[in-house]
Amino acid sequence: MQHKYQRNSLFFPSQGQTCHAYCTFCFRWPQFVGMDELKFATKEVSLLRDYVQSHKEVTDILFTGGDPMIMKAKIFASYIQPLLDADIPNLQTIRIGTKALGYWPYKFTTDDDAGEMLTLFEAIIKKGINLSFMAHFSHPVELETPAVKEAIKKLTNIGVQIRTQSPILKHINDTPEIWADMWRKQVNLNCIPYYMFIPRDTGAQEYFAITLENAWKTFRNAYQQVSGVCRTVRGPSMSCTPGKVQILGVTEIKGEKVFVLRMLQGRNPDWVAKPFFAKYNQNAIWMDDLKPAFNAERFFFEDELEWRFNEHVNDAETERFE
Ligand code: SF4
Repeated sequence: MQHKYQRNSLFFPSQGQTCHAYCTFCFRWPQFVGMDELKFATKEVSLLRDYVQSHKEVTDILFTGGDPMIMKAKIFASYIQPLLDADIPNLQTIRIGTKALGYWPYKFTTDDDAGEMLTLFEAIIKKGINLSFMAHFSHPVELETPAVKEAIKKLTNIGVQIRTQSPILKHINDTPEIWADMWRKQVNLNCIPYYMFIPRDTGAQEYFAITLENAWKTFRNAYQQVSGVCRTVRGPSMSCTPGKVQILGVTEIKGEKVFVLRMLQGRNPDWVAKPFFAKYNQNAIWMDDLKPAFNAERFFFEDELEWRFNEHVNDAETERFE
């Protein structure tokens, strides 16, 4: 379990630490390779329940992995039911990070326990808890099969909200047309475009990365091609140590070319939505490649971040998994 942002707790159920297939760009490799000392996983839902009960500021639990939708309905219920039974007033949203709709939509249609899973989802929603899928789609073709359309319909019919996200990946989806097409198709299927991410600084980043400037140009161009209903999407965003850093653009201020940035999430909530500036670097592919603009020595959050890591060592140790 990990409590990175004030309102969200991430939970890594032990039976959800694999996937229907493995994405070559995935940063979660420690979950799959049998190196238990690097792996996040717990069977102890009671720890999660007690934690959320005692931390009233936590409103959201994100079930993540791997892919929690690899679990059979009965196993997933063993994690969910104790949370429902506990009647935790501050628990408002259960999120499920999954690529099942892309890789195995039959999970919600023809699998032998598909009905049981949907009934469990309905129980969450009837309890007054928002159930949000953080659905990973990397390309519009993943939205075109009758199976995925049927699965989405079954989920949305019972009140599941489906938000969509993907990294922008060289060789796979690095054109504005692909993203605009993907967002339109998602909205037509009643899904909510949510995030364009920058590939993380792990694994095969070199192969899949595009520069921050090009990611922003791709985002901007795609955003301009779609109507307001698709513009719920945020990005391009880096999930890095201080938080989720969005690239708002490249511009010139007092003769200096800069990246304009802001945090969509921050280790300290006060950091969120505050614009800040980095020196322009045409080769930058990640936050580490950026330096503060206007000859500043540090970004505004760095002193506090250092203090936080000195005080809470575990944050730093677990950073690579988020
Ligand atoms: S990106 Fe998601 S679905 Fe793909 S391998 Fe990683 S955790 Fe599994």
